[in-house]
Amino acid sequence: MAAAEMSFLHSQLEERKRRLETVVTASPNDANLEALLREVDSALDRFAAGTYGLCEGCHDTIERDRLLADPLIRYCLDHLTKHERDALQRDLDLASELQRGLLPPADLKVDGWHTSYHYAPVGPVSGDYCDLYPFHGQLYFMLGDVSGKGVAASMRMTQLHALFRSLIGMGLPLAKIVDHINCFLCGSGLAGQYATLVCGRAKAGSDGELGDVELFNAGHLPVIAIQQGGVRLVESTGFPLGMFREATFTSTRLRLGAGEMLFLYTDGLSEARGESGEYGIERITNLVGRHASCCPAGVISACLDDLRGFAGANPGMDDVTLLAIQHAA
Ligand SMILES: [Zn+2]
Repeated sequence: MAAAEMSFLHSQLEERKRRLETVVTASPNDANLEALLREVDSALDRFAAGTYGLCEGCHDTIERDRLLADPLIRYCLDHLTKHERDALQRDLDLASELQRGLLPPADLKVDGWHTSYHYAPVGPVSGDYCDLYPFHGQLYFMLGDVSGKGVAASMRMTQLHALFRSLIGMGLPLAKIVDHINCFLCGSGLAGQYATLVCGRAKAGSDGELGDVELFNAGHLPVIAIQQGGVRLVESTGFPLGMFREATFTSTRLRLGAGEMLFLYTDGLSEARGESGEYGIERITNLVGRHASCCPAGVISACLDDLRGFAGANPGMDDVTLLAIQHAA
């Protein structure tokens, strides 16, 4: 840790000691305050001894950002006390619950579209984003992958969820929504944190007509369209969101007949590893092509079965999200 940061931490501890001493004098016999004062004294002792910032478990340096957030900690992440581990676990459990609460209903059927999805984070929280949002007779669908992992990526994912839903609710055209979100992410992100994403708007045709889908693929893996004439890949037409403020995004238009389907996925599927290498987009395309007559839930479960057969017990280290949307009428 830099000398300036160490000196900042030292002054923080001195300041806390002063404040605590004043309060302890005013209300003596408060066991909590006295314990806190002892902790601050002990941290100052470690400063004097030159051992401040070293883990008492392994004597390695404690993570800088954690020390700056709490100058009293004495253990690195690997050597947390049981109490600290439990607190961290509780936080993660809550974050995980909150994130699950943002998912759309399972097997949603609305406005002439049938859907199904599978959302499986590797850890407690996920940087994968999946949402279905019916609005004014149209079904909006979003599936994406935030760069990075863990809590930071999951916070970005929850931002995307809120941004898309509020901008859709304002009745903006999809192209405007994508632009706004790109600018927002560019302006507020950590460098290198962006999102590959597919978002679309599906409108059912009236009796016997084709369904109309407008979709944007911003740096994401190809969307698979399963149609009468065969399987077609809808490739990315732009950069990931949050990478370049000046980026422009163009949409793709699709007309889907009854029973025709879109299949979206994250790289947790396409880059899953098995003994024979990577799962790959071709394998996904062939598989969904063979299940062209299935319902959305059927295609997803066939895909998961195939993935388990391919990767065995160790499907990989990434979140897996799948989404299938079928024009019903
Ligand atoms: Zn340690």
